[in-house]
Amino acid sequence: MSADIATMDAPRVRLVVLGATGSIGKSTLDIVRHHPDRYEVVALAAGRRAAELAELAREFNVRFAALADASAGEALDAALAGSGIANGAGQSALHDAALYPADIVVAGIVGAAGLAPTFAALQAGRTIALANKECLVCAGDLFMAEARRRQVAVLPMDSEHNAIFQVLESRNIAEVEKIVLTASGGPFRTKTLDEMRHVTPAQALRHPNWDMGSRITIDSATLMNKGLEVIEASHLFPLAHDQLDVLVHPQSVIHGMVQYKDGSLLAQLGSPDMRTPIAHCLAWPRRLDLPVARLDLARLATLTFEAPDLVRFPALGLALSAMRAGGGAPAALNAADEEAVAAFLAGRIGFLDIASVVADVLETLTGSGALAAPESVAAVLNLDGEARRQAAVAIARRAV
Ligand code: NAD
Ligand code: MG
Repeated sequence: MSADIATMDAPRVRLVVLGATGSIGKSTLDIVRHHPDRYEVVALAAGRRAAELAELAREFNVRFAALADASAGEALDAALAGSGIANGAGQSALHDAALYPADIVVAGIVGAAGLAPTFAALQAGRTIALANKECLVCAGDLFMAEARRRQVAVLPMDSEHNAIFQVLESRNIAEVEKIVLTASGGPFRTKTLDEMRHVTPAQALRHPNWDMGSRITIDSATLMNKGLEVIEASHLFPLAHDQLDVLVHPQSVIHGMVQYKDGSLLAQLGSPDMRTPIAHCLAWPRRLDLPVARLDLARLATLTFEAPDLVRFPALGLALSAMRAGGGAPAALNAADEEAVAAFLAGRIGFLDIASVVADVLETLTGSGALAAPESVAAVLNLDGEARRQAAVAIARRAV
């Protein structure tokens, strides 16, 4: 029997997509559109956009659809009328979606809001395809300990981590000297601090290479995203903090690299299209045919690199310090950043205030002793709430 016939006969892989209406969710569903014989979407969840979720639920003929926002429940039910698709709204419906019987749960919710449902899916033994980096930033020790206990695979979808995962595959981690996460440098890579003081949300949302949700796009402009990703990497790969490097690479062609102790540097390259790392997780350890743009290296001609500038991009330094401090510091950093980014997007604070709000919150909470290592997801979420309250105070002080 040929391998192709074996694939045709294999049952379809059942997927739950959390964050279905977002950038990661839509890219995931697009892969399913190309491979309907291999994947079946059983449940979808999103934040509050009922019409959009209902349209996707109908297209993929899912069994269950959920919105986190309880007040959007009626609209979702109305939009699904006659479809026979079960649905619900609110936190318990979100959990029902996360726990719907499936093979892989795609964790594509943005922010700490993704932690509880993704953790629940992990506890239920589902393979996690992890885009939501906040699970590891806020609760990395708890999350990876649970994955080990349940012997569940946590497959990294974030492009840099996925690149490193691809390069490391079946190699010995003890032979790794360091790993390198690349960063585009964002839209303000060459701007001075003075120029960055006056940038608008619209300018900050114009990422040079990637099309992503608004929070991660702003985080890419401050380099906070790269800091969160170093923390994420510290949990995914058993390496010391000084073995995790960041390199600015404006073309976003090399996504991640592994330096071995004999001096070899191995890299994963590809077009900046999230469908590649997503498909790698969905098909792992195999690969899918995908119609993503192929790299034309002769046309690209030049790839450039530079060291990150921690003076112009203090958010990266704050994240690295939070990683070294450990305990609750990364969760507080993330919560403060989520609030500061929202305030910047709402026009309440300036671009440079984002990092200074985060710094204020960490300083206040360090002084109050609130940053001890949280021992449960509930404790992480408590700390998240406290950091958001402190961030509101810091934001109000700066509000324009
Ligand atoms: P997005 O803003 O485009 O989409 C977020 C999704 O989460 C939406 O479906 C939204 O409805 C849902 N959501 C928001 N708040 C929610 C809540 N409280 N409860 C339930 N659902 C909620 O974000 P994105 O760019 O797709 O990013 C999602 C995650 O993936 C983030 O953690 C991000 O860091 C990570 N990630 C994204 C990319 C990318 O290319 N977009 C790349 C790497 C990692
Ligand atoms: Mg990334």
